[in-house]
Amino acid sequence: MELSSKIHQALNRQITSELEAWYTYLSLSAFFESKTLLGCASWMRKQAEEELKHAMKIFDYVNQRGGAVKLEALPAPKSEFTSVVAAFEAALAHEQKNSKRIEELVELAQKESDKATLSFLKWFLDEQVEEEDSARKNLELAKMCGDSSAALLQLDFLLGKRKDSD
Ligand code: MG
Repeated sequence: MELSSKIHQALNRQITSELEAWYTYLSLSAFFESKTLLGCASWMRKQAEEELKHAMKIFDYVNQRGGAVKLEALPAPKSEFTSVVAAFEAALAHEQKNSKRIEELVELAQKESDKATLSFLKWFLDEQVEEEDSARKNLELAKMCGDSSAALLQLDFLLGKRKDSD
């Protein structure tokens, strides 16, 4: 079950995409730290750690399939946001972009009839549903806060309670 060169390349690209997500969330975490919204910073940092795990899942899969992992340069993530809402918007936009990339990868695996890769990617499809859902909810809550510092502090407290996940 050797990887086709197209799938091989696309999986390597997706490793970089997941690392790009890791870098994006790390930058968002730094932004919230700078605003002393430590709960939001902690949430973003945990999300960054998840993204690194996603990258490593694909890293391991490429190796298991006898492919060579090739890492690419990461673009510098955005580090300035005009508001807290804008930062949460950036997180959602990034998830939507990543979902599209996963879907394209699924389409390619279908075209190449790579059943093992299709099965492997199912986890990522399901994961993206969850990721977009939590990013959307965070954004909605941030919008609800409006100009209220009290509400924002409550959201910060809520997000700070996020547990480590796999
Ligand atoms: Mg991911």
